Amino acid sequence: MINAIQEMQRDKPLILLVDDLPANLHVMIAALKADFRLKTATSGVSAMALLDGGAECPKLLIVDVRMPGMSGIDMLRRMRAAPHLCDIPVILVSADASEQFQTTGLDLGADDYLVKPIFRDTLIIRARNLIQRSEERDKLRLAGHVFDFSGEAIMVTDANNDIVDVNAAFIKLTGYSKAEVLGRNPRLLASSRNTREHFRLMWDTINADGYWQGELWQTRKDGSVHPKFMTVSVVRDRNGEIEYFLTNSVDISEYKESERRIAHLAHHDVLTGLPNRLHLQIYLDQSILIARRMGEQLAVMFLDLDRFKNVNDTLGHPVGDELLIEVAARLKSCIRDYDVVARLGGDEFVVILRGAEILSDAIAVAKKLNHRLSQPFVIGAHTLRLSASIGIALYPDNALTIDDLMKNADTSMYFAKSDGGNAFRFFSPAMDLGAHEKLKMESQLYEAIERHEFELHYQLQVDQHGRPRGAEALIRWHHPEDGMVGPDQFIPLAEESGLILPIGHWVLEQACARIRAWQGDARTCTLVLAVNVSARQFRQPDFALQVRAAVQRHGIDPALLKLEITESLLLKKVDEVVAIIAEIKALGVGFSLDDFGAGYSCLQYLKRLPLDQIKIDRSFVRDLATNDSDKAIVRTIIAMAANMKMAVIAEGVETEEQRRILLAIGCSDFQGYLFGCPLPVAAFEAALAMAP
Ligand code: C2E
Ligand code: CA
Ligand code: CA
Repeated sequence: MINAIQEMQRDKPLILLVDDLPANLHVMIAALKADFRLKTATSGVSAMALLDGGAECPKLLIVDVRMPGMSGIDMLRRMRAAPHLCDIPVILVSADASEQFQTTGLDLGADDYLVKPIFRDTLIIRARNLIQRSEERDKLRLAGHVFDFSGEAIMVTDANNDIVDVNAAFIKLTGYSKAEVLGRNPRLLASSRNTREHFRLMWDTINADGYWQGELWQTRKDGSVHPKFMTVSVVRDRNGEIEYFLTNSVDISEYKESERRIAHLAHHDVLTGLPNRLHLQIYLDQSILIARRMGEQLAVMFLDLDRFKNVNDTLGHPVGDELLIEVAARLKSCIRDYDVVARLGGDEFVVILRGAEILSDAIAVAKKLNHRLSQPFVIGAHTLRLSASIGIALYPDNALTIDDLMKNADTSMYFAKSDGGNAFRFFSPAMDLGAHEKLKMESQLYEAIERHEFELHYQLQVDQHGRPRGAEALIRWHHPEDGMVGPDQFIPLAEESGLILPIGHWVLEQACARIRAWQGDARTCTLVLAVNVSARQFRQPDFALQVRAAVQRHGIDPALLKLEITESLLLKKVDEVVAIIAEIKALGVGFSLDDFGAGYSCLQYLKRLPLDQIKIDRSFVRDLATNDSDKAIVRTIIAMAANMKMAVIAEGVETEEQRRILLAIGCSDFQGYLFGCPLPVAAFEAALAMAP
């Protein structure tokens, strides 16, 4: 309760009453105590001490003029000379009603003058008015301060929208002096960048809501244009008529610039500063629209650097990055201002040309691009040579949509690449999608060795008692996009393109290294490792040499290496094949004939081949239990092999029943999921360690 009263009290303004006669003080206290908080002093000196003492500053002083020591006039004089007291309103009270006396007081800065005897109501009203006026003055002073020192440019215009005042920030922002703008219409700041519509909307809003906020372009005195964020508010008089328009504005050039930069980043490649895929998409979209309307043509040129991966892998990414920046600069130098070159990512770029003579333009630009890129690049201490493969698709001849244009350009790029790179190819419908996929995989396959994406898995081979005898090495490709890819998906392509040669070489090396590594463990040191050799690989003139070199390099027992060849070898020049096999066998390396029964199974030839083992194709093993004719064939193969002193291994053995039947027919070796799947080396070794 007491607190509440104190709270209410505190809201009331404080008045200091100064009079040497307690009776006078009592009269005033009685009159004012209901509406004000009061402090009293009985002399000018004690009053000044109170004011200087740092206590709460009163909102009003009521001071008796005639006091011993310091008179009311003296006090007033002192107060008006003191900066912290000069604004406090003062009412002088005196018994002297003479005009001269009053004017002296008012002259000195008294705000009012009362003659005794004082009437209660007069005192209250005068005190209240003075305090109210003083508070308004404070507010105005504060507003003036805000106006003058605000960081925001402030402009005040009257009802006719003529400028009546501007602040320092406005002068700084616009470059105009106050004198230059007073009385002028703010139109002088206008910029043609704003649309009429924008202004119309702005004024509609101001008239309807008395308030508008938004962005506006304005022109400085020096003619430069800048964006502003602006608030316009209407100040109305007591009758509700518009008196002023108050406009606050801040320069948002920097903000706009960073906004622009962010937008730029979203549309540009950070490394090279070239437009990125998103930007390209938008640009192509517009270009197609324009080309259609104007009857123009477009060329979409897909450019991929040849063997860029080498640079990254051997010299490191910083050098690769430098090279890409330089490539970007050269590409830009080859095209006209209104053509575009974008980076799709990695070492892929796209150039878009527009025009009427697009075919000859594209040829000229492609030649220029190939030429410019074939000049040596000097990056730090390195001088690098580079080339690019370029595929070109034309609008509207080859495709009408962005996707098709890009796809066709990409396809033709792969054709340029597969012809050895450093070339350009125009799209033709004969380059169908299948070809595209194939070419793409081929180029990826090409890089797979360099990128170490291949891995060998090992599948166990066991004897009739289930004891480990050896393993078959089976290649796997860790494709960067598609994950693990099986050999059936890429070996045929590798054979067709010749890539099987480096791949086969790698497999042979890996396998020999594995045999070597297995020598250190009793469980693995006797395992015979079977390696698949493709026909094309086998036919290399120096294949026997390669095998010997690998065996010697790794210092392995050649008897632990077995080459799996297929019947497809036998279709040509049997004598040569026999000679090569004999040469390799002379090293001590074994031979197995893979997938036997699935191909031509030319028994005549088979007799002539010095093989160690025949591998029964899994298609016969699969249906052994249900298909009697398969069983008969397998029985014949085994008998025939025994006749020729060859061992027989069955592959694809998945069930116990298959194993039992094969065993009964006389099969000596087995491979299949029943004994183990192909596994990465660590898993293979672990499984072997677990085996009984
Ligand atoms: P392949 O030489 O006939 O290899 C045996 C294939 O049968 C392997 O397929 C193996 O995973 C699979 N397999 C093993 N056990 C079973 C089973 O119990 N049931 C069934 N249904 N399949 C089984 P993978 O690894 O996909 O290899 C496919 C072919 O790719 C191989 O057939 C071989 O011709 C070729 N290949 C694999 N690695 C190489 C290589 O390093 N060089 C060459 N030139 N060819 C390879
Ligand atoms: Ca095989
Ligand atoms: Ca096989």
